[in-house]
Amino acid sequence: MERIKMTTPLVEMDGDEMTRILWKMIKDELLLPFIDLKTEYYDLGLKYRDETGDQVTIDSALAAKKYGVAVKCATITPNAARVEEYNLKEMYKSPNGTIRAILDGTVFRAPIVVKGIDPTVRTWKKPITIARHAYGDVYKASEMKIPSPGKAEIVFTAEDGSEMRELIHDFDGPGIVQGMHNLFSSIESFARSCFNYALETGQDLWFSSKDTISKKYDHSFKDIFQDIFDREYKDKFDQAGIEYFYTLIDDAVARVIRSEGGYIWACKNYDGDVMSDMVATAFGSLAMMTSVLVAPDGTTEYEAAHGTVQRHYYKHLNGEETSTNSVATIFAWTGALRKRGRLDGIDALADFADKLEKATIDTIEGGTMTKDLALITTLEKVNAVNSQDFIKAIRTNLEAIL
Ligand code: NAP
Ligand code: MG
Repeated sequence: MERIKMTTPLVEMDGDEMTRILWKMIKDELLLPFIDLKTEYYDLGLKYRDETGDQVTIDSALAAKKYGVAVKCATITPNAARVEEYNLKEMYKSPNGTIRAILDGTVFRAPIVVKGIDPTVRTWKKPITIARHAYGDVYKASEMKIPSPGKAEIVFTAEDGSEMRELIHDFDGPGIVQGMHNLFSSIESFARSCFNYALETGQDLWFSSKDTISKKYDHSFKDIFQDIFDREYKDKFDQAGIEYFYTLIDDAVARVIRSEGGYIWACKNYDGDVMSDMVATAFGSLAMMTSVLVAPDGTTEYEAAHGTVQRHYYKHLNGEETSTNSVATIFAWTGALRKRGRLDGIDALADFADKLEKATIDTIEGGTMTKDLALITTLEKVNAVNSQDFIKAIRTNLEAIL
């Protein structure tokens, strides 16, 4: 069989531990035999990040901006234990944080739905995608414990020295206060990322906040979304036959539980943090979830939502068998290949991505799966396999489809 040719390279960001092992298996078994794979390779494994003083992470993000599409393996975010384990020169920042800061994106996470892994919510038939704003609010707040009676105020001092003040509370005893912020530029890019992603995936977009209570803060989010939608996206949404609507967060929660799924739910930073864990768990597993970072300029980076699966890696190093689920990492590759195929007009590449996803889902629905899924499946005949055999089983199904 002739391998599919590519014209533009994918930016390939390799990673750490068990996911690095899976990364190579996926390439060897599921990609290289079928695609004349063209990538610009960046080694984001912790050892090489340390050798380059983390410059490789920055370079990889700049390459993603240049070419438009990247695929990323899970990476270690160093903590004190990792600094010792890898004898690091410093405690580098989270690579995802560094890449996000350069691309200025929004993270979209959606469950991969398969028969036999049933959502906890009976009515959910299609995936629910959470779009989480990843800047500001309570994640970049200042807080103070108030020890005694007194007046707490918000003070803004302009560059010319003039002041604006707002009373928070006149305390008659001890209490607490918190000050948080966001930026119009960040909210605007969040909105554009959400609208673009809705158009790209052909799904309705919901956005929720608490503007009835937070009349300036949350209301600004609501207004910015509406304003950008009316000016830049309304016609495109009409043409695509999809809808944007805003509702209160409490109304959104009730609607989500009653819904069939199949839409994007844009959330402010905190809401997205909490709701994405709820939605992912209710759909089954972190290893059955896609994660994609979309920047306002259209740059797209695909990854798995889970980490490097350290516990499995140490078993692997000890020569023990592992049963690590590679689905999210496979779907990171298929997402990137499909996007590259569409941008470059290479139908065969996009078509291959569809077929690899189908082969992966068929494998699980046929009863062959890794242990994490074997524990929760409703299928009766289950063949729980190791990491390698799961990928081999997908290859067999893929060859049959091709
Ligand atoms: P993790 O890698 O997500 O794994 C936590 C546990 O979840 C695993 O021990 C395993 O449970 C289960 N699990 C996760 N992915 C799985 C898969 N594909 N197949 C089967 N089981 C899976 O989180 P962690 O161990 O807390 O973090 C390890 C490293 O990952 C850390 O250094 C962290 O910085 C990094 N991290 C990176 C990213 C990223 O790059 N996107 C995200 C999160 C964390 P059992 O052990 O019970 O089998
Ligand atoms: Mg969280």
